[in-house]
Order: sequence, then structure tokens, then C-alpha cells
Amino acid sequence: MKGYVDKDTCIGCGICPDVCPEIFKMDDDGKAVAGKEEIPEDIIDNALDAESQCPVDAIQVK
Ligand code: SF4
Repeated sequence: MKGYVDKDTCIGCGICPDVCPEIFKMDDDGKAVAGKEEIPEDIIDNALDAESQCPVDAIQVK
């Protein structure tokens, strides 16, 4: 599984890097960005939490 952020939708709230900093970071443009790597098994639950907590549904973990 990998994480994806739709930057057009992201409002830069900062929740996802708080919930799953291994995968989500804030980019220079103030929007979140997801690492391109495969999400390690022990972090998938955190990544899915970040997906569900995003207030604007900008994240996909799939
Ligand atoms: S939780 Fe959603 S809106 Fe907030 S920074 Fe992450 S992708 Fe953007």
C-alpha cells in the first residue's frame, strides 16, 4: 500500500504528518505530501488513521 495526497484538495491543516509522520510530510507549498515508498506493515494502521482524519478527504491509502 502507498499513500497519496491530492494537493488541490489539501488545506494544509497538518493533521496527517502528526498522525503518521513516517509517510506524510508538509511540503514547501504548505500542503501535505506522501512518501512514494511502500508503507511498512506496522505503519499501515497509522496511515489509514491519517486518511480517515483528513478533514477534506484529500488522502488515499491504497
Ligand atoms: S490531513 Fe488532509 S488537509 Fe490536513 S494536511 Fe493532511 S492532506 Fe492536507
